[in-house]
Amino acid sequence: TTNPNPFRAAIIGSGPAGFYTAYRLLSKLLTAHVDMYEQLPVPYGLARFGVAPDHPEVKNCENKFEEVAEDSRFTYIGNVAVGRDVELKEMKAHYDSIIFAYGASQDRKLGIPGEDLGGVYSAREFVGWYNGLPQLASLAPALDAGEDAIVIGQGNVALDVARILLTPVDALRKTDITEAALETLAKSRVKRVKVVGRRGPLQAAFTVKEVRELMHIPGVSFTPISSSFYPENPKSLPRIQRRIGEVLLKGTPDAPPDTSPKNWSLSFLLSPKSFNPSPDNDKHISSITFAPQRFADDADRYSNAARVVPNTEEQDMTLPASVAFRSIGYKSAALLGLSDIGVLFDSKLGVIPNDAYGRVMSPSLGPGNLSAGHVPGLYCAGWVKRGPTGVIASTMKDAFTTADVVVQDWAEEVPFLGHEEGAKGERRGWDALREKVESRGVRPVGWKEWHVIDKVEKERGAAKGKPREKFGTVEEMLEVLDR
Ligand code: FAD
Repeated sequence: TTNPNPFRAAIIGSGPAGFYTAYRLLSKLLTAHVDMYEQLPVPYGLARFGVAPDHPEVKNCENKFEEVAEDSRFTYIGNVAVGRDVELKEMKAHYDSIIFAYGASQDRKLGIPGEDLGGVYSAREFVGWYNGLPQLASLAPALDAGEDAIVIGQGNVALDVARILLTPVDALRKTDITEAALETLAKSRVKRVKVVGRRGPLQAAFTVKEVRELMHIPGVSFTPISSSFYPENPKSLPRIQRRIGEVLLKGTPDAPPDTSPKNWSLSFLLSPKSFNPSPDNDKHISSITFAPQRFADDADRYSNAARVVPNTEEQDMTLPASVAFRSIGYKSAALLGLSDIGVLFDSKLGVIPNDAYGRVMSPSLGPGNLSAGHVPGLYCAGWVKRGPTGVIASTMKDAFTTADVVVQDWAEEVPFLGHEEGAKGERRGWDALREKVESRGVRPVGWKEWHVIDKVEKERGAAKGKPREKFGTVEEMLEVLDR
């Protein structure tokens, strides 16, 4: 780059998108300094609080993030929620750029009766709970209410939920799943898990690795699916779909459904209509009613984009469920104060409007001409940019794209924050904000302090033969620092 000025960026969120953006920015722009804001004391977003505890290898990205954080041009500001503890409009004066990478912290809803009954959870809540997300510590899912669990949705998150419900607790004890989750799972009465989708197996979003894992849980059978979903000549299918098909059609020959203590199954072409209360307890779910679907007349039923429509020739189907999990997607929300700095959050798509590279766009700044609509200095990356889909690898690619356009814009000296007022001098970022934020009673957590929390969590884990025992509340995390 030819722009010699120091560049100060705020990245909001310390998940994979935030860290990969920081990594790329710091390596491409030698004059850059990154301040990373994280609402929790602890970093890594869904790498810590989403990725399943029995998939520790996925968390290897954290080693890379650790390296990024060790750069002297990087400052971690944990336990500071943007919008709550520091306002975007006050940050604006102290940065050249603000990059939104705050992920998706809400759920999509089905909008059907009974969604708020006891025993109905979103996958996000359940996953956050077993992974020790402080806000969800008190979820206490009713796994002892009965033997039938239903998961609605057929992506990998749905399969994570099914696997955690069915894996013998002793196998989970070696992971970093929380002790509280282990206790509840040990008392679980769930024996059957049905994973239900609106479309067919060729339209499901899960991948073969996750399906295979479920096929290999000791004592858990799988009811093979009907071959009617597949063409007579499976060779006509793309390789990935064919492999999943082979696994689903074969089932678990070593664990027959009629003699195995536990079972999982996939149901297709069912759209949820209502969660129904139990006759004995009108506050708790006992079944779910589904409306049968069929492939639309013009749909290629072997294509993964095939559409379905209600099948009016079949009657509604009601399946028993003592507990239910909606796994139909996470959702991003508007950050408090976004509109103060000229950003109109797209609540319908659940993303910050952007030009697909990562420049935040405002329709009021110039319809028709994309680059004219860029809100100067503002960028976004990760799930809040693309919507809540994609693995860590795709989030990395996406974050690199964002960082690359920031660097390109900086090199071309397009306007950044405050430049319209001619203020091109050095920005002091967090150094200028810290005192004011602390005066509000906020207690920021730095990277070295995260190391202290990390070390104590690992020690607590080692005592139990686990890689880590997470602290369940923010208070406990802070207590370790202040004792
Ligand atoms: P996030 O990881 O959500 O990070 C956002 C961060 O922003 C969070 O730390 C949050 O606390 C913080 N934040 C939010 N609001 C504020 C605020 N106001 N101020 C400051 N900070 C804020 N991918 C894989 O590759 N392999 C897997 O096995 C895998 N398993 C998954 C399992 C589940 C259940 C889920 C949900 C996802 C899984 N993924 C997996 C996908 C992966 O987690 C995502 O691709 C990735 O985490 C998205 O990164 P992100 O940085 O956009 O969001």
